[in-house]
Amino acid sequence: MDSAKNLTVWQVLERLDLEQLGSEMFDLARNLYPICRSITGDGVRKTLREVDRMAGLELREVPSGSQFFDWTIPKEWNIRDAYVADLRGRKLVDFRNSNLHVLGYSMPFRGRVTRNQLVQHLYSDPNRPDAIPYRNSYYKENWGFCVSHEQLAKFTDDEYDVVIDSTLEDGHLTYGEAMLTGSTSREVLISTHVCHPSLANDNLSGIVVAAMLARQLRSLRTRYSYRFLFVPCTIGPIAWLGSNPDSVACIDHGLVLACLGDSGRFTYVRSRRDTADIDRIMQHVLKTSGRAYQLRAFEPYGYDQRQYCSPGFNLAVGCLMRTPNGEYPEYHTSADNLDLLTPRSLSESLVTVLSTIGALEDNKRYLASVRHGEPHLGRRGLYEKAQENGLFWLLNYSDGSHDLLDIAERSGMSFQNLSGGVRMLEAAGLLNPRDPARPE
Ligand code: ZN
Repeated sequence: MDSAKNLTVWQVLERLDLEQLGSEMFDLARNLYPICRSITGDGVRKTLREVDRMAGLELREVPSGSQFFDWTIPKEWNIRDAYVADLRGRKLVDFRNSNLHVLGYSMPFRGRVTRNQLVQHLYSDPNRPDAIPYRNSYYKENWGFCVSHEQLAKFTDDEYDVVIDSTLEDGHLTYGEAMLTGSTSREVLISTHVCHPSLANDNLSGIVVAAMLARQLRSLRTRYSYRFLFVPCTIGPIAWLGSNPDSVACIDHGLVLACLGDSGRFTYVRSRRDTADIDRIMQHVLKTSGRAYQLRAFEPYGYDQRQYCSPGFNLAVGCLMRTPNGEYPEYHTSADNLDLLTPRSLSESLVTVLSTIGALEDNKRYLASVRHGEPHLGRRGLYEKAQENGLFWLLNYSDGSHDLLDIAERSGMSFQNLSGGVRMLEAAGLLNPRDPARPE
């Protein structure tokens, strides 16, 4: 019987049709791309309902005004239309052409303004003169428009009509959560941000990789439970951390996923703990993947690992990206569009995260049954497989104190090969789980 629920992560990885999954992830990103998202509002709800079809999500609603640690859930922002028109009614800036044209969280505004007044509400980036920059004013009431620097020169009239048809009212902050229950209550957290409007790599790429990961894990029997959070940056994790103290205590490992669709090398930012299992496993998986990568120490910048790794929590949560935020020229501009994503990069990112999960699942301690001298592998028909599957490494270091990660690091062998070796040695009665009931 080959029911999917009995497959290992490695068996699933071998069977994946990566071309097909890459194009499914890309298609989801394409569907999500036009939606105007922010840290609250209907754009986030619409996004999460789309993601639900791949990942299976519960939508959570947190009322405006709720307090978590040093933060208050803001008013909910929604927008229908916005433009700047000249007095002949010709629109110079139009939200309908790109949702990036509106300063995120712009309060409602309607009126005639002078050129000087208007210019104070226009945002552009001289370093990227042809692109619309992405800007917000979440926690200070303001209105504005973002335009390419080249477009600024076109505002030569004395007066303009401005319309921002938005609402900023008491409502909710919305996030999505999926819990895949494993055989133990210890958890792996996968978190990705859903608050950016039409920007593809930051972070539709993280959203679609996390959604596909959830879909793949649903078909597996795992020992860890997997909690997926699709949250608005900063305030989302803070609200979740503040309202789920019991769940926080169950998290053993975690990853923030972002910027995973471009063709750059992988970047892993370690947790604040620096040498947590997730940090060592991620390093080992990247090292044995044959793909280009870089490792970075934790710093209190970047994505939501800042919250999970704040000193009061100090969770073992790292961040996996390809080219990091702020380090590609299209970052936070209209040039971060679907052209930047490739189905192949998305599927490579999926494989990298699945391999990491395979390693987390397999990282146990074993006890070798023969401890005096090597067991006679030839007699058991295992000698031919010894090199490829690290059998001598497994037999020597399975003394109860070294886990598979220690053995993987010492031998330089991939978890996938070592796990194959564990299965062979278990079948031959040469290796036994030290403590099968515990997740570690
Ligand atoms: Zn961003």
